[in-house]
Amino acid sequence: MDKKSYFGDFGGQFIPETAMFALEELEEAYESIAKSKEFKEELDYLLKEYVGRPTPLYHAKRLSEHYGHEIYLKREDLNHTGAHKINNALGQTLLAKKMGKKKVIAETGAGQHGVATATAAALLGLKCDVYMGEVDAKRQELNKFRMHLLGADVVEIKDGLKTLKEATTAAIQAWVNEIENVFYVIGSVVGPYPYPMIVKDFQRIIGDETKIQLKEKNIQADYVIACVGGGSNAMGIFTAFIDDKNVNLIGVEAGGLGANTPYHAATMTNGRVGIIHGMKTMVLQDEFGRNLPVHSISAGLDYPGIGPEHSYLNSIKRAKYEAISDDECIEAIKISSKLEGIIPAIESAHALAYLEKLCPTLTKKSTIVVNVSGRGDKDVNTIMNYKKGTIYG
Ligand SMILES: *Cc1c(COP(=O)(O)O)cnc(C)c1O
Repeated sequence: MDKKSYFGDFGGQFIPETAMFALEELEEAYESIAKSKEFKEELDYLLKEYVGRPTPLYHAKRLSEHYGHEIYLKREDLNHTGAHKINNALGQTLLAKKMGKKKVIAETGAGQHGVATATAAALLGLKCDVYMGEVDAKRQELNKFRMHLLGADVVEIKDGLKTLKEATTAAIQAWVNEIENVFYVIGSVVGPYPYPMIVKDFQRIIGDETKIQLKEKNIQADYVIACVGGGSNAMGIFTAFIDDKNVNLIGVEAGGLGANTPYHAATMTNGRVGIIHGMKTMVLQDEFGRNLPVHSISAGLDYPGIGPEHSYLNSIKRAKYEAISDDECIEAIKISSKLEGIIPAIESAHALAYLEKLCPTLTKKSTIVVNVSGRGDKDVNTIMNYKKGTIYG
């Protein structure tokens, strides 16, 4: 077993022999190109001038009064395209360009990673194909059109449940078929090694900035909270704090209708070790090891697996994972919107909702950083139609 591709017992490269070559090429290119001074300078420039980094670490005064603890929000919602996904899409697409690839491909569920990749491809002048389940493409018509507008082709997948899992499988297949010319931009800290490492490296800027910003404000974080789908925004903010044992790390997954019902995406809470999309990690599966269907109000958290490093952090108890239900998430959106004038993405609202559970249990005044992974503009319709009639009641 090649230990470097593992986080503890998790990770690895569970893919067909025919794709190994591409992973080796990727790892080599990543080490030689992405770690060079020239690449880093170019990416830093784009992150600053194009994406708008650094994002603020904002002291949410009214939320702090509401909860009786000091709440700080890392404002990834203020990035260009409205979420943290652009950090990674831009990094990988720049790497693709430097490797001489002509086209990037990506999988997408709600369309957020597809939009981020299409944006990066437009900026850097590469072709872009986005694989999207037919059901998702219908549900997220606006994002589908957005990708077209950005010059990308959306490939609709009609297999199985026609959602993210099938789109990912199709994207991997398309990559293997055209491996010479194509770079596969993965959207989270998932998939076979080296992807979980690469995506973490491109997202760790979130935590690195947060650490500097805390220092500038002369404060110490007691808790860092982030929502977890595949786990990239969480890994992005956790990484800077992993060695600081005074900082409690909490990942919040989608509890859907309740983690004790069949309708959720609470992988860590209810999953078992298994294999999905080329990695060994916690997986929501039935007794035969088949992936279970997932449910969440939030398309971005609707995934039956989780990044292998999260499974590792959970196994050594360095991070804790909790589930938040759809109802609790909607409530958190209302609170953040009314008290701070910030409408968070439904995904990010899962992290905010955990404040409601955590704060009453704290015995001393604490400083809590919540990663607001994205903005809620894309979700306003969903929020409006949620249990119609009750939301403004
Ligand atoms: C995609 C998405 C997520 C979930 O992805 P992670 O890899 O777990 O970060 C969370 N928040 C927003 C706004 C997203 O678009």
